[in-house]
Amino acid sequence: MKRFKTLDDMGDIAGRTVLVREDLNVPMHDGAVSDDTRLRAAMPTLSELADRGAKVLVLAHFGRPKAPAPEFSLQPIAAALAHVLGRPVRYIDWDGDAAAVAALRPGEIAVLENTRFFGGEEKNDPAVVDRFASLGDLYVNDAFSAAHRAHASTEGIAHRLPAFAGRAMEAELDALEAALGRPVKPVAAVVGGAKVSTKLDVLNHLVTRVDHLIIGGGMANTFLAARGVDVGKSLCEHDLAATANAILTGAEQAGCTIHLPYDVVVAKEFAANPPSLRTCNVHEVAADEMILDVGPAAVEALADVLKTCRTLVWNGPLGAFEIPPFDAATVALARTAAALTAEGSLTSVAGGGDTVAALNQAGVGQEFSFVSTAGGAFLEWMEGKELPGVRALMG
Ligand code: ADP
Ligand code: MG
Repeated sequence: MKRFKTLDDMGDIAGRTVLVREDLNVPMHDGAVSDDTRLRAAMPTLSELADRGAKVLVLAHFGRPKAPAPEFSLQPIAAALAHVLGRPVRYIDWDGDAAAVAALRPGEIAVLENTRFFGGEEKNDPAVVDRFASLGDLYVNDAFSAAHRAHASTEGIAHRLPAFAGRAMEAELDALEAALGRPVKPVAAVVGGAKVSTKLDVLNHLVTRVDHLIIGGGMANTFLAARGVDVGKSLCEHDLAATANAILTGAEQAGCTIHLPYDVVVAKEFAANPPSLRTCNVHEVAADEMILDVGPAAVEALADVLKTCRTLVWNGPLGAFEIPPFDAATVALARTAAALTAEGSLTSVAGGGDTVAALNQAGVGQEFSFVSTAGGAFLEWMEGKELPGVRALMG
């Protein structure tokens, strides 16, 4: 029971011009695309529309230009997209758009220059919405990662043309719905990362939605300290003690079990395999030590929690995973989640820049049910917010 329309609902699109919002905001290094994940994600939708005979015009932003400037041009990215798609991709400059779009032939794909070159894109200005809308007959939004912004090409235009979710958007929305919308219970969430302050809304929302909330990373220290544990030199937001305790109380009222580590990996310096490295009970951290990872006994207990759950949503590493051996807990729990997913007993959804990196480091990036690379949009969704670009697709 979907509330948004997909490419399956578009009917006969042969010869019609379809505007497709994609995320082409790829990392560039020395003028070349250094990671083409987002281009590959665009492929199913663009290929399908072209194969169905549509004239496909891709809308996307690149960087944060204040005004049109060559370093923010989508021209080199259109070339990289052609390479990934294995078919020609035209580039259409922003000031000559109308005539060039009119000249497209059925089955052709073109990338329109950076939507942010059109003044008013980020203000969702009706004049820009009109200009985009005048270029096509139908609109497809395939860029979940841009859906937390109400811009002309992500939101405004969806009200002006018949609007559909692309294949990548559809997969993302289905996965997120399965993880937190209508999950199979019991549901566990892992929230880690550096600070409570950046994820307050996430924590407050999750305690009302999940059965088990596993807190790791630097933010666990804030909760431990709020409970009176001496966390030594650990990264800790002592000023958030009252906030942390309010979250713990809220969880109790909502029937959500909070899991904080009871053993931890500590060191006196933040360095790879430092001589001061040791594992101890959370109550035994010395004044000159830092908690840098969840301990092995706690990880084993957390694995047992995951074994009782049917759904997992994960954001944030359990430790300072960039430096060995402080990736151990994240890697071990990620591998447990991957194994349970492979067995079919767990639906596992993860997201967040460092989380994706940590899962890849554990070698399980492909083994979760779904891994979101959406960043800000993923976090806003974890906060329970309605994303404007998604809402606009609901008609
Ligand atoms: P994501 O990008 O997946 O949302 P975050 O940015 O919130 O994740 O958190 C990742 C950061 O948290 C990493 O840089 C990691 O080193 C840091 N971190 C995790 N645990 C600790 C800890 N115990 N002490 C200090 N930093 C930590
Ligand atoms: Mg991060």
